[in-house]
Amino acid sequence: MSIRRMVTGTIALLTGMVFIDLTLFPSVQKQLFSYLSLHHKQAFGHRAVHASEGRKQHGIHVVQNIVYPVIPSFIALRKFPYPYDAMLAITSDADGLTLDKFNIIHRFLNTNEKTIMGTGLGLDISDSCFFFVGNDRPGYLDAHKHITWQDQMSYFYRLSTSDLHDASPIIYYSKVGWIDSLHGFGDFSLLNKKDTLFHRVFAQAAVNAIKENNLLYRVWINHGNESNVGNFGNIKSSYQQGDLPSSPYYIADLARSAGVQFIWTGRDDHFGRDSLIYPIKLRDGYRCFGFHRYTDDGYTTSHGVLWNWNPRFLSRQLSIAHLHEVEKKHEYVCIAQHLGGNPSYPPFYGDNLTALLRLKQEYQHGHILVTRTSRLLQYNEIQQYIHIHSYIKNGMTTIVIDQIRDPVLGYYRPTLEQLRGITFYTSNPQATTLKVGRFTIPKEQLVSNQPDYTGQPSIEIKWFPANTNDYTKKFSHLEQKNGDTQQQTAHMTEDTPHPSWMYQEDPL
Ligand SMILES: [Zn+2]
Repeated sequence: MSIRRMVTGTIALLTGMVFIDLTLFPSVQKQLFSYLSLHHKQAFGHRAVHASEGRKQHGIHVVQNIVYPVIPSFIALRKFPYPYDAMLAITSDADGLTLDKFNIIHRFLNTNEKTIMGTGLGLDISDSCFFFVGNDRPGYLDAHKHITWQDQMSYFYRLSTSDLHDASPIIYYSKVGWIDSLHGFGDFSLLNKKDTLFHRVFAQAAVNAIKENNLLYRVWINHGNESNVGNFGNIKSSYQQGDLPSSPYYIADLARSAGVQFIWTGRDDHFGRDSLIYPIKLRDGYRCFGFHRYTDDGYTTSHGVLWNWNPRFLSRQLSIAHLHEVEKKHEYVCIAQHLGGNPSYPPFYGDNLTALLRLKQEYQHGHILVTRTSRLLQYNEIQQYIHIHSYIKNGMTTIVIDQIRDPVLGYYRPTLEQLRGITFYTSNPQATTLKVGRFTIPKEQLVSNQPDYTGQPSIEIKWFPANTNDYTKKFSHLEQKNGDTQQQTAHMTEDTPHPSWMYQEDPL
């Protein structure tokens, strides 16, 4: 979007009885553009949307009967909440997770407790979950060879629709936000990829459990090989049937009823992007969003896809160059991971631990907002499709959020929760009011920000408060002793992780 178009969409004049959209008056607009480009050019460094776009077809609106001087209003949407330059989520697939691994990993990532890997990072990092395990993968999840791949963390026990496995912690962690994504409805990968144990009955049982427990998953991450015939969203796929109503494996309707709106469909070797979401039309006629995840470093004919979504590649994923690149370009990024994919103990060590510390530093310094996948995608959607208008009255600027014009969900008026983090540059935040339609957003939900690198102050709908509660206390087998964590169930090894334990292939 050009600066001229942003300014065009941003400026309004209050003259006498009318509120004029300057797109209708190119000469006036040109003069003001010159003025603004001299005085406020930097303020429009971010992609901005406004207001007036929605009024073009309507032209002039009478809003009041009072004469005001010509006062330009400098309203523009800041791409990310202040003071951040980029937004990042670690989007982890549930492969290889056990409850103990989950607890150790997220106690370190999400809390500020003392852990075997040092003081927890206190970051908002979510995970995914399975509801069923129907794989035949040989081998173990732990170095002591106690836990098989069939015993991964899962809501139900293997393929039973009545026996529960980790239902209680999955419900709990989903409610507190540590789990926000479905990794399909289960792990149905078979060694013989032409065979499958999947059936719609599993999806139905999962959705029943989701509804009974008032859970909601907006993020769907397709899992596994061609045996997972319930996958959907990738139009190039030859095996996916989850969105095919004529198929016995049709489940897209059930996924939607579980809340699914964002679907990860395939590999991507881009680290950051201007936007991660894109509309998809499914074969059952419904629309949803696809989203990009950084999964690999490209493809070579000799080695195939160079997957990097294992913790041992965190240092490559979260390299200094990568982090600085998204800050500079003001981009979103979802990095794909399998945080529980190794039996190594501790899960993060060496360069990979350093990479996570580096990410925390970028967050603390106000450069990269690290957040859970569902929040990032929600924000991305709102930021991309928000429509507003603004006006000045009695020296007060009012910004009205009219609606979200979403190509998937349609036009709708957002809730306060959906708007968290939305930030507008405005000349005087203290003299700016925010409304959603006719309703004024309470002042306690807003925060006024100092000028950022553009020189412009801003007003923001408060982002979610930081939450570093240690939710593992409810389920952890770990004991606190002298501030250190003692592992009681030691089913991971403390030995230096051996490369043969690591994934050698696409571990989807
Ligand atoms: Zn997977």
